[in-house]
Amino acid sequence: MPTIRLFYALWPDAPLATHLATWADQARTHAHGRVMRTETLHMTLAFLGSVEQEIADELIDATPFHRLIPGAVTLDRYGVFARQRILWAGPSQVPDLLQATHDGLWLWLSAFGVMPPAQPFRPHVTLLRNIERNDPPAADPPPLTWRYDRMVLVASESSTGGSRYRVVAQSRPQPV
Ligand code: ATP
Ligand code: MG
Repeated sequence: MPTIRLFYALWPDAPLATHLATWADQARTHAHGRVMRTETLHMTLAFLGSVEQEIADELIDATPFHRLIPGAVTLDRYGVFARQRILWAGPSQVPDLLQATHDGLWLWLSAFGVMPPAQPFRPHVTLLRNIERNDPPAADPPPLTWRYDRMVLVASESSTGGSRYRVVAQSRPQPV
């Protein structure tokens, strides 16, 4: 049975992505490493891993009917995942609504037989990979508020030079 690697994410609009790319450039002067391409910057809500194509097709069909409550998250800190050698930007406090969106998404996914991870939700935007030190820059970035109203379902495909992302579906905002 063929499988496909999938994740749900918030995807920044172009101005926000461009702004985050300036953070990546600044952080790189401290941590070195490789800057993520601007058009690939995102915040993962749920990493599904390898999913059978049949389930993936069901998710692609169902995602437009998953109503996401619009919200906002303020990115105001840098952090590192030392083992993965990643530098990221994220919120110092996870908004209740974003946490509920994450929890609700995994509950919805359980109906498709996709199981939630054991680890807690650590919302972040990966800015740099292969960093050369284990501490974030001394100064945090000025707070940047990200307003979102949908999530995207992304297929992550291995290719030479890393993974390629392909948006295969998106949710609809819940009307207010
Ligand atoms: P590569 O793994 O090829 O270097 P990548 O990490 O960008 O590339 P994926 O591994 O498909 O691509 O990950 C897609 C997204 O899901 C990324 O934001 C990644 O950080 C996140 N992710 C990957 N694995 C997990 C995991 N086990 N738990 C939570 N998020 C994950
Ligand atoms: Mg990965």
